[in-house]
Amino acid sequence: MLERARILDEGDPLKGFRERFLVPEGVIYLDGNSLGCLPKATPHRLAEVVQGEWGEGLIRSWNSADWITLPQRVGAKIAPLIGAQPHEVIACDSVSVNLYKLISAALPMRPGRKTVLSEPGNFPTDVYMIEGLEKQGLAERRLAPRERLFEALDEDVALLLLTHAHYKTGELFDMVELTRAAHDAGALVLWDLSHSGGALPVDLSDCNADFAVGCGYKYLNGGPGAPAYAFVAGRLQAEVAQPLSGWMGHARPFAFSDDYAPAPGVDRLLCGTPGILGLAALEVGVDLIAEIGVERLHAKSQALSEFFRQCLSESGVELELVSPTDPAQRGSQLSFRHTEAYAICQALIARGVIGDFRDPDILRFGFASAYLRFEDMAEAARHVAEVLETGEWQREEFRQRAAVT
Ligand SMILES: *Cc1c(COP(=O)(O)O)cnc(C)c1O
Repeated sequence: MLERARILDEGDPLKGFRERFLVPEGVIYLDGNSLGCLPKATPHRLAEVVQGEWGEGLIRSWNSADWITLPQRVGAKIAPLIGAQPHEVIACDSVSVNLYKLISAALPMRPGRKTVLSEPGNFPTDVYMIEGLEKQGLAERRLAPRERLFEALDEDVALLLLTHAHYKTGELFDMVELTRAAHDAGALVLWDLSHSGGALPVDLSDCNADFAVGCGYKYLNGGPGAPAYAFVAGRLQAEVAQPLSGWMGHARPFAFSDDYAPAPGVDRLLCGTPGILGLAALEVGVDLIAEIGVERLHAKSQALSEFFRQCLSESGVELELVSPTDPAQRGSQLSFRHTEAYAICQALIARGVIGDFRDPDILRFGFASAYLRFEDMAEAARHVAEVLETGEWQREEFRQRAAVT
């Protein structure tokens, strides 16, 4: 296996990019879908921003270092990764906060309708944010399993909110088909791209999407708690009114008027002062992903995950796969079900193979292909086989649940 892996690595067109990231010695990192690795250029860029722009430039840097347009600039760089126009994306706040803004904006655009439709088991924050708006009396939450979504799209639905690649299983929705179905039913659509932006090709324009949000710290390698991004289709921007009417989303923030007037375009999604350090780090991650190219990253991640499955099978590992077997039907991850998934995950982490556990019984491996090698797949599969064979996961220390799993 290792020999075959090394041949594959030799022929890998992305092999040179691994050294652009800090991948700790002795670690096989299969969790880039949760927190991407650190680009080596980031510490230098942050030092520049902290020492030079903040330390020396102080308040002048809002203009001289162009801090004031950083949310737009980073948004415009994310745009081509998700099939959007530069003026349709802005980097700001967290995914959760952007969900709040966009769900709230969508509801009044469909007068007489209050239902926000999603699926049970969607990422928690997505369904919680709908619930919060329900408690305010502004929305009604409806959850329908994915095979029932089409019939659940009735005349009460104002907005369909779905996550493109499911965080647990990696299962993909057909964005074209569902967006069309929602539009046919008179509803708007909001796509959560947290597990697909920067990992696989997404084409918001092609599917005629209305709104989208996505995460900066997963496949975009923006660092822990990096700013998220939000997309509003150009054709809808003038109609969008979001409730977090902070001064940075004002048409003229520095006119200090008593009355709110939204900025034209996607800028109106801004609320408070943007976190410049976070945006500066995110920009480095986005530049690097754009340089490598999402098509190539996706092709390699499919090859890596298929090779990983092959190595597992050749090592005699029989784990129940909950992700689609067809790589075209899943995001850049493989998830397996095991009643002892938590302890197995901990035993693997102790060996330097970092994947993650998703309650209650999912062992999840992400394939952020910018910095992974086929050799890592062969080695990780060997560790999985050994952990299962030796039963070392049964050790007490691997059963203690940590605060963050
Ligand atoms: C990671 C993730 C989020 C993260 O939301 P934050 O508010 O940025 O913490 C949201 N939605 C999905 C589908 C995710 O995978």
